Amino acid sequence: MKADLHCHSTVSDGVLEPEVLARRAHANGVELWALTDHDEISGVARARTVAQGLGIRFLSGVEISVTWAGHTVHIVGLGFDDTNHDMVRGLEAVRSGRTDRALEMGRRLQKLGIGGSYEGALQRASNPALVSRTHFARYLLEEGYCSTMQAVFDRYLGEGKPAYVPMQWSTLEQAVGWILAAGGRAVIAHPGRYNYTPVQFGALFDTFRDLGGQGIEVVTGSHTPDQFTEYAQVARHYGFLASCGSDFHSPHEGKLDLGCMPDLPAGLKPVWHDWIH
Ligand code: AMP
Ligand code: MN
Ligand code: MN
Ligand code: MN
Repeated sequence: MKADLHCHSTVSDGVLEPEVLARRAHANGVELWALTDHDEISGVARARTVAQGLGIRFLSGVEISVTWAGHTVHIVGLGFDDTNHDMVRGLEAVRSGRTDRALEMGRRLQKLGIGGSYEGALQRASNPALVSRTHFARYLLEEGYCSTMQAVFDRYLGEGKPAYVPMQWSTLEQAVGWILAAGGRAVIAHPGRYNYTPVQFGALFDTFRDLGGQGIEVVTGSHTPDQFTEYAQVARHYGFLASCGSDFHSPHEGKLDLGCMPDLPAGLKPVWHDWIH
């Protein structure tokens, strides 16, 4: 089963429309697909229509921003009812702080001598309610302030850097709660990206599991091959289901194209094991 259960469209910080992504997934041989935009599910129905028309098995998806122990964690939801009222309302609340945050990022960049970044980011965001650091990063790149996306985050936008504006996103309880109440499965996205101590990681995995979280991303564009192995062990240790996703945003950014990931390591139960036969 060639599955890609993590990617982004213009509904959040991806550059391709949901329909275009569906066609790309098909062209790349994806058999099971989920669109997982940040804090927004309005692209799901659009993606589903085209994907199913092309014969792809489709799961609803979302990537919810969470603040846990002072850092941002991303929780992917899969296979939920995307018309669920509490989920839709909850995500609206998660998105609501983004405009003020973007304005503050613009002010901080201005102080660093970088003008017009709020307007530049907004112009690059197809969804004005979802201005993300990615949109700022694209502006800074195109204006020549940095030569790589990584450099933009290392110098300006990453946690603790001068234009980083801390956010209080949803709680882990809320994010997992919305996903489960809408009939879906919760998955910790790209665990290798978080700056927690080993003790904090243990607490995150325990708390997530106690809340009813079931899955963890093992193979993702954000992990090195060593991390595939590391998080395969975590999945086995905690009894988590394993997920895989490219985290594709754009044909010009990131390591992995849609659907172009290595297989999950052997001996793991995939997150779709009892959904797809
Ligand atoms: P936000 O939700 O506005 O905080 O933006 C987070 C997004 O920024 C992530 O989903 C990634 O798409 C992007 N991002 C974060 N860190 C990096 C990085 N080091 N390199 C490239 N993109 C990044
Ligand atoms: Mn993103
Ligand atoms: Mn993420
Ligand atoms: Mn993502």
